[in-house]
Amino acid sequence: PRQPYDDANIFARILRGEIPCNKVYEDDFALAFHDIAPQAPVHVLVIPKGPYVSWDDFSAHAPADLIAGYVRAVGHVARELGLVDPGYRLLANIGVDGGQEVPHLHIHLFGGAPLGRMIS
Ligand code: 5GP
Repeated sequence: PRQPYDDANIFARILRGEIPCNKVYEDDFALAFHDIAPQAPVHVLVIPKGPYVSWDDFSAHAPADLIAGYVRAVGHVARELGLVDPGYRLLANIGVDGGQEVPHLHIHLFGGAPLGRMIS
């Protein structure tokens, strides 16, 4: 079953242009912007353009072109930010145990320094 999606969540408001963001990349499928409270020299959030709460919701219910476009956008951002050679980290917090704060699927992209073994 679909998870209920809250249209008032902060990332939905950013997607609608109601709240500004520091944009890194945008296409028909995804929007990438700098995290407001960066936890690494580079900390970008990449979100799909659709009402999906979680990875499981998105992967089960999003159309294939959106899934492909979103995955491609994450890689595009990593390349555009010059992170391919030094490397980077992707992270998605999902649900209560995952510590998800914003109920719109997002991938954190961390980079710009050695990140050690920490995962969040
Ligand atoms: P989560 O814990 O849900 O994986 O992460 C949510 C992230 O969104 C946090 O890293 C937080 O700093 C970021 N964030 C929350 N509100 C805003 C906002 O209004 N603008 C931006 N750019 N980032 C936000």
